[in-house]
Order: sequence, then C-alpha cells, then structure tokens
Amino acid sequence: MRLQSLLMLKGCRNLFWRFLPFTARVCARRSLITRSSASLLYHPPSTHSQSFLTSRQTSVLQHSTVRFSFTRSLCHSGHCSGLMELKEVLQVLEQLAPLSLAESWDNVGLLVEPSKPRPTKTILLTNDLTEAVMEEAENMNCDLLISYHPPLFRPVKRLVQKDWKQRLAIRAVEAGIAVFSPHTSWDSVKGGVNDWLVGGLGSGRVSVLNQAIADASHNHKLEFMVRSTEELNSILEEVKACDSGTTLHYSVNRSDSCGIHVSVTCSDSALTPSVQTLLKHTGTSQSLRILKLEKPPLLGHGQGRFSVLDNPVTIATAIQKIKSHLGLSHIRLALGVGKTPESSVWTVAVCAGSGASVLNGVKADLYLTGEMSHHEVLDAVAKGTSVILTDHSNSERGFLSVFRERLAVRLPETVTVVVSAHDRDPLEVV
Ligand SMILES: [Zn+2]
Repeated sequence: MRLQSLLMLKGCRNLFWRFLPFTARVCARRSLITRSSASLLYHPPSTHSQSFLTSRQTSVLQHSTVRFSFTRSLCHSGHCSGLMELKEVLQVLEQLAPLSLAESWDNVGLLVEPSKPRPTKTILLTNDLTEAVMEEAENMNCDLLISYHPPLFRPVKRLVQKDWKQRLAIRAVEAGIAVFSPHTSWDSVKGGVNDWLVGGLGSGRVSVLNQAIADASHNHKLEFMVRSTEELNSILEEVKACDSGTTLHYSVNRSDSCGIHVSVTCSDSALTPSVQTLLKHTGTSQSLRILKLEKPPLLGHGQGRFSVLDNPVTIATAIQKIKSHLGLSHIRLALGVGKTPESSVWTVAVCAGSGASVLNGVKADLYLTGEMSHHEVLDAVAKGTSVILTDHSNSERGFLSVFRERLAVRLPETVTVVVSAHDRDPLEVV
C-alpha cells in the first residue's frame, strides 16, 4: 500500500509521520477493510445446495449519544456530595466525544491513571503537554490533565529522565495527576474541533470530508427458517456458543405455513462456526442466506469539514474572520492562481492540525488548516484554491475554551475546569 493512501486516514499529520511504526497497524486495518469488501462477492462452493446470497445493507446512524449538552447536571449517582471521581469525569468526556470516533492509529483515552484515587477537583485543558504546562498543573494541584495531543504515543520501554515525554509521564505519576487525551475523537465528533474551525468563516451548509463509520462488531447476518419454537431455541443455543463472549442478536421476522423465519447477526470470527452449525440442520441448511452488513456512516462525524457559506466573503474578509476566530495577529496566505484578495470565497474546506491528506483533491475556493508542505500548497494554488495556514496548534487551541464551557456545565461546581495559560504553539512570527 502506498504511503500516500495511508495518509488519507487523516488527522494530525505530524503525529502520523512522527510515529511511522503505527503504519503497520493502519496497513493491517486497511487490508482488513479490503478483504471485507471483497467478501461481498463471495460465492460458496457449488457442492452446497443451499442458496447463498450476499447483499449490502446500509443504514444510517444518527449518533444519538454524541450530542453536546449545555445543561449543568444537578446530581449524578456518584457525585451528589459534590465530589467527582475520575471515572465519572471520564464518563462525561465519553458522552461529549466517544473515543470510538478516534482514528485507528491514534492513542486516545486515559494515558496516566494514578494508583491512589482522589476526587477530581481541578481539570487543566491544554493542546500540548509541555514542561511549562506540567509545572502549571503541579502548581494548581491539578487532578486531571486533558491534553488534546496525546503526550504518550509510541510504545514506551523505559521511563527515564533523558526523554522529555518520559519526564512528563514520570512527573504526572509522581504528582498523582491523571492524563487523558481525546485527540482525533474531538476532531471527528459533530460540534468538535473541525466544526468549530469552519464556523469561524460564518454559517454555511457543512458536510464531513472523511465520513466516520460505525464500528459495528456484528457485520454478518444469517437468515434461515426453523419449523418450531423448540427447534429455534435449540439452534439459537448452538449459534450462541459460536460467538462466546458476545450477546446474540436475533429476530424472528415472521411465521407462516413454511415455518419461522429467523435472522441472526454475528461477528467475523463467529461466521464460519455459525454457518457450520446451521448446515448441520436440514431445515436451516436449505433456507440459509448469508448477508454482509455494511458499517453505517455516523452522520455529522468524521475528519475535516466542507462548508458552502451562506454569505460568501472575499479572501481579505476571510483572513480577518479567521484571525478574529483564532485570536491570531498573523496567518499565512497563498493565493490561488488567478485570485486576488477581493476574489470571492463561496466554499471552504478545513482540517485542524496538518490537514493536507484530508484536503487533498477537495475542490474549494479556500483551504484552512494548520500546516501544509511547500509542494502541497503549490498543488492547491495551481488548481485555483487559496490556502490559509495558521501553524499547527493555532488551528486547534481555540476549541479548548469552547470545550471548557461544555465540560464545566456537566460537572459539579466543586470541579474547576481551566484552560492552560502556558500552552502555545512553539512557532511564532518574529
Ligand atoms: Zn494536531
């Protein structure tokens, strides 16, 4: 697989390049997807007399649990006393942005967990966990550090002082500070980093550039007929044993003079033993149909955003809007070929961080991202697309304040949520 296509898996480009060992995992995942797609064309051996059919069955999920709430929780089960345990904070974070939305190569979630549980009273939000931010956290007796970029990413074989990231991990452990990283789950979630970023150019018809797909574990459906309830119960017990550890999902579609029509869904690993089980029974083997279920798209979630602006702006106005939205005095501009600062921007494509792989090939008047390489910028402007670069974390950091509000209203007033004062992009204009 060409590396270029791997990069289409998006997100924070720099992290991806920095941690190339993870490409092996990405390759593995991609090849699984390819095999899965190919299996749609699967034809059974002709020696089997039963009818095998495959089909795509696509449904669309509105991720109902992924919705920002602006209502302060009055009393959750565990913190009526006003004291919030770490696990309860993690539950709230999961509600705001499920970790399942993160990219497969990412390293999100709880990265450091203290051995001695203590109430979470102070939460510090930062884009990057640097030594300056760690000092800030220690000084305010922080209980939980939420670092957008994961401070631990590559596998660690030792914890020593010569590596700055290992030093930070040691300091977090010694201070009893939990560390959590949401990273690409915040990029992907509806209302997250990328929606916030594109919103800086005004309202518009917003769509997702790389659609998030549900992580469905039961992606095969087996349809068959049985003659009686007793036979149904007996077969279901046998099929259930094929998929140990998971809940059996089945439904009785209808009963008629031919028998009872049943559907069972199962995982990849359970498919072969389940089919073998059903083939042992005369009735089910003759009626068996195997269907491949497509993983449904999670509408509104995914990497990158594209907006058709309700009110088109000039490039000059777009620059002012972006500076204001991100709180920046300087940004970098590459005008598309044939464009001037007075040219209109009707469509904009954004990706927080290093967005070239997500933006690549997207037809838009303007790209907005943190960083792109020289040649990626040249490719864009040659197609008439203007490019605005903010430096990597400047395209992300402003979301921390938005998230702070969303988190704070869902926690008891005994919990203080603070945005770091020392977190900043390492690059500055001089
Ligand atoms: Zn980033």
